[in-house]
Amino acid sequence: MVMLVPLRRGRDDRRQAPVAAHDIADLEAELRAAISGEVRFDSESRAVYSTDGSNYRQVPLGVVLPRSAGDVVAAVAACRRHGAPVLPRGAGTSLAGQTCNVAVVLDFSKYMGRVLDIDPARRLCRVQPGALLDDLRGQAQRHGLTFAPDPSTHRWCTLGGMIGNNSCGVHSIMNGSSGGRTADYVEELTVLTYEGHVLRVGPTPDHELDRILGEGGPRGRLYADLRALRDRYARLIRARFPDLPRRVSGYNLDDLLPEKGFHVGRALAGSEGTCVVVLEALLRLIPSPRERVLLVLGYPDVYSAGEHLVEVRGAGPSGLEGIDEQLVDFLGRKGLQREATGLLPEGRGWLMAEFRGETRAEARDRARALMSRLERARRPPAMRLCEEEGEQEQLWTVRESGLAATAHVPGMREAWPGWEDSAVPPERLAEYLPRLRGLLDRFGYKGSLYGHFGQGCVHTRIDFDLKTRPGIDRYLEFVNHAADLVLSLGGSLSGEHGDGQARAALLTKMYGEELVAAFREFKAIWDPRWKMNPGKVVDPYGIDENLRLGTGYDPPSLETHFRYPNDHGSFAEATLRCVGVGKCRKLDGGTMCPSYMVTREEIHTTRGRARLLFEMLQGEETPLGWDNPDVRDALDLCLACKGCKGECPVHVDMATYKAEFLAHYYEHHRRPMAAYSMGLIRTWARLASLAPGLVNAVFRVPWLGAALKRLGGIAPQRSMPTFARRTFKRWFFARPAPAGARERPPVILWPDTFNDHFHPEVAVAAVEVLEDAGYRVIVPRRSLCCGRPLYDHGMLDRAKSALREILDALRPVARAGIPVVGLEPSCVAVFRDELGELFPHDETARRLREQTYLLSELLDEIGYAPPRLDGERAVLHGHCHQKAVLRSDADAKLLRRAGVECEVLDAGCCGMAGSFGYEARHYEISQAVGERVLLPAVRRAGAGTLVVTSGFSCRGQIEEGTGRRPLHVAEVLHLALRRSRRAGHGAMAPARAPRPRALPAAAVLLSAALALGISWRRGWLRR
Ligand SMILES: Cc1cc2nc3c(=O)[nH]c(=O)nc-3n(C[C@H](O)[C@H](O)[C@H](O)COP(=O)(O)OP(=O)(O)OC[C@H]3O[C@@H](n4cnc5c(N)ncnc54)[C@H](O)[C@@H]3O)c2cc1C
Ligand code: SF4
Ligand code: SF4
Repeated sequence: MVMLVPLRRGRDDRRQAPVAAHDIADLEAELRAAISGEVRFDSESRAVYSTDGSNYRQVPLGVVLPRSAGDVVAAVAACRRHGAPVLPRGAGTSLAGQTCNVAVVLDFSKYMGRVLDIDPARRLCRVQPGALLDDLRGQAQRHGLTFAPDPSTHRWCTLGGMIGNNSCGVHSIMNGSSGGRTADYVEELTVLTYEGHVLRVGPTPDHELDRILGEGGPRGRLYADLRALRDRYARLIRARFPDLPRRVSGYNLDDLLPEKGFHVGRALAGSEGTCVVVLEALLRLIPSPRERVLLVLGYPDVYSAGEHLVEVRGAGPSGLEGIDEQLVDFLGRKGLQREATGLLPEGRGWLMAEFRGETRAEARDRARALMSRLERARRPPAMRLCEEEGEQEQLWTVRESGLAATAHVPGMREAWPGWEDSAVPPERLAEYLPRLRGLLDRFGYKGSLYGHFGQGCVHTRIDFDLKTRPGIDRYLEFVNHAADLVLSLGGSLSGEHGDGQARAALLTKMYGEELVAAFREFKAIWDPRWKMNPGKVVDPYGIDENLRLGTGYDPPSLETHFRYPNDHGSFAEATLRCVGVGKCRKLDGGTMCPSYMVTREEIHTTRGRARLLFEMLQGEETPLGWDNPDVRDALDLCLACKGCKGECPVHVDMATYKAEFLAHYYEHHRRPMAAYSMGLIRTWARLASLAPGLVNAVFRVPWLGAALKRLGGIAPQRSMPTFARRTFKRWFFARPAPAGARERPPVILWPDTFNDHFHPEVAVAAVEVLEDAGYRVIVPRRSLCCGRPLYDHGMLDRAKSALREILDALRPVARAGIPVVGLEPSCVAVFRDELGELFPHDETARRLREQTYLLSELLDEIGYAPPRLDGERAVLHGHCHQKAVLRSDADAKLLRRAGVECEVLDAGCCGMAGSFGYEARHYEISQAVGERVLLPAVRRAGAGTLVVTSGFSCRGQIEEGTGRRPLHVAEVLHLALRRSRRAGHGAMAPARAPRPRALPAAAVLLSAALALGISWRRGWLRR
């Protein structure tokens, strides 16, 4: 019979008395005075820290970003004086609700993230709590060492958070029987109690314990209490603590047993911020053989994979993971990892076994030994041994994309954590998997089963209904049954994510009332006032309290410009898309999220912005609705680079949400001048084309240029791009038709504002390259614009009418299937992305989306073989929109096909991001983003190396920051063409628009005035 745990927690006496508002104000003031770090009690900061990766939401009292251990001590002392609870926090990626609370959050990730010391001889390291795991692993690897537990969040999770959760990972298995949880690698912790005592805690041999007890004082009393607790419960601990690699639930009271050396540091690991604040940690490293191979085994289903687990585990792999066919199916439905899933051997359930060695041969021999054993089995699995590093990476991404695959699956209900990391002894996994599936089926739930099978830990996200009372009751019933199931197999409720609030109420099932009482005593020894992360792990909030959604979730239904086809047409659902993984906090590569990479502020992550928008629709912490200047400010540093759309596992599209927000916000507020000067660049460019020389000359007059920039909100440090003396279109329509053009297949070359008016030589080059590739180039005579600059300023009405004009003008082109080729990635991205989001049901929009290409995409697709440029070297920077929604590899493929030795930079965003970097208030951030990787890399490139990038703004940023003139990929191909023709195949015109005849100055002024008048009458300036 299933014992249902109570829905609400039993001991109401432990509930916190709320801190009075005036006390909060005093506390804030006191904190500001006491610490050198940052103190944030504003509603936006509190809103962005209101949740983690879990189903829970609690708005904190305030946020502190300490710069030093001294700051932490002072901050906790201030909290103590005001009776305010404290919640330590790293990257906030927890899944069980332990990283949100009505408390003062101490965020260690911004300033206290140093790896202090690595001692290779003793295989030890010392770290601050905010140090990133991959920073540590990178530094340790230089000594042939590593830190074995590696959660999937390894690139951005912190050591403090790992200690807090007792985290594990793929390589936890590396250390064989010595355990694979973070606790097993803790040598010593420096901790701070809420009472203000700083202690170093580690193993305590008997003589040391006697000494500490003899010394008395707070430390002596604390150790005496711990020893008494241990002695009282030793028998029960030995009897009831399950023996399995992934026992993460509950406090580690077993580490206080004499046979485990009375290890107080390890007993505190996994206490989820409920006992102490970790100020510093001394951790053990293990040898890390450099070479690895990956053996993937395909079975008829995931249950058969589970049955063969013990045999595979016996071969000593350094990682042993499992995935089921649902995960692969979900990835397929979302169009993700197609190439990688194609590498899986035949089967419907897979084991992935990694083998390591000092040499590749050593690793391979280990894998082969297992393969020959398995080949002799009655029904051997399908096998694929991957030695090539790229292939291994691809396959690991399949496993690591577990959450990406299982969240927001089209055609399925939303899936949530809640029973996402249970664990059984590995030898019982074969029983657990089918029984867990049976339970899911009985409740009508869907969820893929995958995870760290080698250690018996199973991941799944389940489509619980967390919005209605019956749905929530059913969820509670399910976790009760699931707990009974896992415990009947000798398992643990949590195998790595911790108990937090999601599992804590179930601990009585796992340990019994008496041991849960021991947990309560353990916490009370460290935290007698019950102020450390209260309501989590012990005397917890009910599983269904503080739900982020819950029965009260009822966001307003808002009229929107974008249609949000992937979020059921709802902006509110779009703001729920972020699942809190925290990938937007990574610092070691990629594009997402450039603003966080330089500010290190949670509010400048994609996640922080998504949370703020979610809170905006709740209207509790921040005013409800679009008219919200604080949200505007918080979104202001979003570069609209679309890095998140491309890299976030669930494709949060903040650039779109920002445009949507700004469009509504500016219905009631005046736009900044930059919106008019930069957002309407097409209008200005058309006017300037009447007298480009004059306009350029005006900007070159120092005082006049400065005044105009100031008026337009443009950074004084920026030089204005020079208007071309003749536009590309004028050149194009003036030139004679090339011979034999009629017989060739047509292609539309999109004359975007930037290449038409500023860099016509790029478009001229593209025409000649396309003709060389066999096309007849057509350029629309009508003045059309995709409206790209308008999105950044939320001018969505204008943007929509610009797109409507395009849809009308290009309908015949779309019907005829004529390819449309663009040169500016951000403009092509409008066709691929915004067009569909704004007109999801328009057939012409759908067709254009499919038949619009970046020049390099089209040329690559038709297999264009450019003339050779052997001996040339290039550094290539991809535009953010290209990386996010277009094919980012096509440029490099073409250049390499031309014989160019090409280094593709992992430089993220250039920092200019359309008009972002031109705007005065963004200049510094823009420079900081550019200086992160791109500008230094270009400076390092030799003078003979070509600098190539297709983005107009990227070219501007590089030119300004380095003095180098970058080339568009069309120009490089054109260069190849010119050289080859010079080398014997006839002369060719340079890619330069011929100069127009100079207009007399009076005519110029007259035309400018006339043009302004016409523009005004036509409403170009007013719309
Ligand atoms: C997609 C996804 C995959 C994941 N995969 C794994 C996995 O493979 N293995 C795994 O173990 N976990 C996994 N997790 C959970 C989580 O990422 C890890 O537990 C991670 O180690 C937490 O680190 P963090 O910096 O985000 O900590 P946080 O979430 O910020 O904190 C974790 C806990 O530690 C406490 N804490 C933080 N700093 C301190 C401190 N200085 N002193 C005292 N307590 C502190 C917090 O109060 C909290 O209770 C995953 C999460 C997600 C979203
Ligand atoms: S925005 Fe994306 S990457 Fe960032 S936390 Fe949310 S889901 Fe993860
Ligand atoms: S669009 Fe770019 S800057 Fe904005 S949230 Fe996404 S990744 Fe960050």
